[in-house]
Amino acid sequence: MSFGALARWISASLFFGLAAALATAASAQTPTPEQYLAHVGGEAKLVPPGQLVIDGYRLYCGKRPTVLDPKLDDYGAAYPGFLILNPRLLARVSTPVKLWIHAHECAHQFRGPDEETADCFAVQRGRREGWLTPQGLEEVCAFITPAKSTSMHLAGSHRCQAMRRCYAEQTVR
Ligand SMILES: [Zn+2]
Repeated sequence: MSFGALARWISASLFFGLAAALATAASAQTPTPEQYLAHVGGEAKLVPPGQLVIDGYRLYCGKRPTVLDPKLDDYGAAYPGFLILNPRLLARVSTPVKLWIHAHECAHQFRGPDEETADCFAVQRGRREGWLTPQGLEEVCAFITPAKSTSMHLAGSHRCQAMRRCYAEQTVR
């Protein structure tokens, strides 16, 4: 989602050992969901489009399937063609944050790798669909802004400001 997924979107080669196994000599190809599952094995599973339910919400991302991978190194990630969510980490955050993570990863499917654009798409979708209230948006902000003051902290609060602007805008991006 926030920090690792951009590189993952652009090229699978930064995704630890996965790329080594999946990349061809010619170029780092993005895997299919089936290839991803075969590589990570274990408890990861594929959820077909339209069948993902989180906290009672049925979540859609067009015709894209979702891989639930409890060993993913982040809350969520996006490869072109499918989403990955980590159910173990998602269990630790509130419902609006979960739904925002899904919408953010879904946004990468349709809007490309830019994080600010994906953030904006996600909050506007949440507002439109009614699952993201101003309070929920503050929970998302708290989630992406680590408590300690670091460069990541600055990145998080910058993203929050942009999301608050987007949330207030009536024009859909
Ligand atoms: Zn992202």
